[in-house]
Amino acid sequence: MKLLFLGTGTSHGVPAIDCMLNNFARCPKGVCAAAFSDARHNRTRCSIVVEYDGKSVLIDVSPDFRHQVLREKVMRIDAVLITHCHADHIGGIPDIRSYTHRPLPFFASRESAARIRQAFDYVFNPPEMRGGGIPDIDLHEIDAPFELFGAAVTPIAVEHGSLKGAYGYRIGELAYVPDLKSMSQEGKQKLRGVKCLVVDALRDERPHSTHMILPESIALARELGAQRTYFTHLAHNIHYQLDSAILDDTMAFAYDGLRVEIEG
Ligand SMILES: [Zn+2]
Ligand SMILES: [Zn+2]
Ligand SMILES: [Zn+2]
Repeated sequence: MKLLFLGTGTSHGVPAIDCMLNNFARCPKGVCAAAFSDARHNRTRCSIVVEYDGKSVLIDVSPDFRHQVLREKVMRIDAVLITHCHADHIGGIPDIRSYTHRPLPFFASRESAARIRQAFDYVFNPPEMRGGGIPDIDLHEIDAPFELFGAAVTPIAVEHGSLKGAYGYRIGELAYVPDLKSMSQEGKQKLRGVKCLVVDALRDERPHSTHMILPESIALARELGAQRTYFTHLAHNIHYQLDSAILDDTMAFAYDGLRVEIEG
């Protein structure tokens, strides 16, 4: 199984427009200004591609989707998993039309599916003249494990503020949980001992109401006994080199364009 990080940034992305508007004077660690010369600090909004058995599964369709697939030359998408309906995870859906010459299966919680239908009404209630402008999406509501191209896909319900129906996913030995504040014991049980964990670590300190911060994310990775952990959904408070000092050798910050091989 191969994992490709399309985007690893928080909802603002890095560099943040807010920091540019302040001439980068308030950027806590200089990460936003550094992003122009250091690709590891240039973080588009969160999404990954998982490749196995000749298939390519996209998780989330970020507002940066078009830029991401052109940058990484993503040649096919066979299915899409949606973690939740926040704009930074579904905003690129209109651009997925180029991959929908036949209906493209999407999988989401009941709540996320409802919000997608509402947000992209023109896709699900198209005018009679469809033309080529409307993606052909086959949207499935899921609340239990299912098989996708021969691999077991397990949705993991997570707490992400007051939002209903937020998921992480386990696909074989990969777990992807980009947005969460906490997870139930039942959810943790499904991820215990996973070979590769990708998890939310919004910033280095100051607890956040809807996201895990780095000390919480490190503790979760250790509790789950993940063999390898990548932190994602990173704000400008995470400096790739400086903050790596507190990670152990099973952990790393993800960055856009990072490719990882997962055995099994
Ligand atoms: Zn997000
Ligand atoms: Zn900044
Ligand atoms: Zn979110």
